[in-house]
Amino acid sequence: MAVLQINGLTKRYGPITAVNNLHLKIEAGEVYGILGPNGSGKTTTLGSVLGIIRPNSGTFTWFDGRYGDQERMHIGSLLETPNFYPYLSPVKNLQITAHIKRIGTPRIDAILELVNLAARRDSAFSTFSFGMKQRLAIGAALIGDPDVLIFDEPTNGLDPQGIAEVREIIHRIAGEGKTIIMASHILDEVEKVCSHVAIIKQGNLLANGEVGAILSNDRQVDIGAEDLGRLREVLSNFPGVNSISEKGKLLQLQVSQELSAVELNKLAFDKGMIISHLVMKPKSLESEFLEITAGK
Ligand code: ATP
Repeated sequence: MAVLQINGLTKRYGPITAVNNLHLKIEAGEVYGILGPNGSGKTTTLGSVLGIIRPNSGTFTWFDGRYGDQERMHIGSLLETPNFYPYLSPVKNLQITAHIKRIGTPRIDAILELVNLAARRDSAFSTFSFGMKQRLAIGAALIGDPDVLIFDEPTNGLDPQGIAEVREIIHRIAGEGKTIIMASHILDEVEKVCSHVAIIKQGNLLANGEVGAILSNDRQVDIGAEDLGRLREVLSNFPGVNSISEKGKLLQLQVSQELSAVELNKLAFDKGMIISHLVMKPKSLESEFLEITAGK
């Protein structure tokens, strides 16, 4: 099932096009990263699909339209840190969140356990570290047991330990089968946390798909020979050829960056194979990645 389908979403602020004709499809169970440098349109995209920002054009559909007016009940979000009462405990604060969301029997104990705050269940919010506050905000998004969680830069401003804890919590939430959509400007984070990614820059979608395929440092090669079976056998022993799949009458390879087309051709020739087709795809996203923080 498509959890979210975005068709041609465009949002302009005066002369600035924050999101330009965005098409995306997010399936149930995916941890979908929206990766882009600051100002690339991530928050505008999330705000639009949450109904907080009104786009200029385009449409989006949640859950194939099956929940109609009730769809917001199935989505939990953390766009900016919510206001909690400083003198109240996390239990009381989550009870208030549940009341506002009209959730009768919230699983507060389970949520506090999940976000590593069970030991602090009776402390006042004002005594919390920034990391704990952020984890409580994630807990608040989980009230009502939504199918989908939307997080905007969930590790922003946290120290390395806080970052690791939030990433671990996101893994746990995903492990419960929930769909997660999260914005990040950190390449490393998306690689560690997400199953799928859409890379956006200045409102434009540059690439999307499985993280392994989109963010790998490997190059893609299309290669062909008369005897495809034999070619596959020969290539499978080459150092630097990391994966082989079939694509029509060609093989599609993921090869290490160091392996050149000439080398590949020569290696095959040495094994008695005549290559009839060889196209090495340029890694055009490389320069875009450099703008996205590689570290924390
Ligand atoms: P960041 O990580 O810095 O939050 P982002 O990728 O989430 O960036 P957006 O916040 O969506 O990007 O902003 C996209 C573009 O739209 C930016 O150029 C931003 O300045 C502009 N923009 C966003 N909100 C407004 C607004 N309310 N009025 C005018 N311009 C805006």
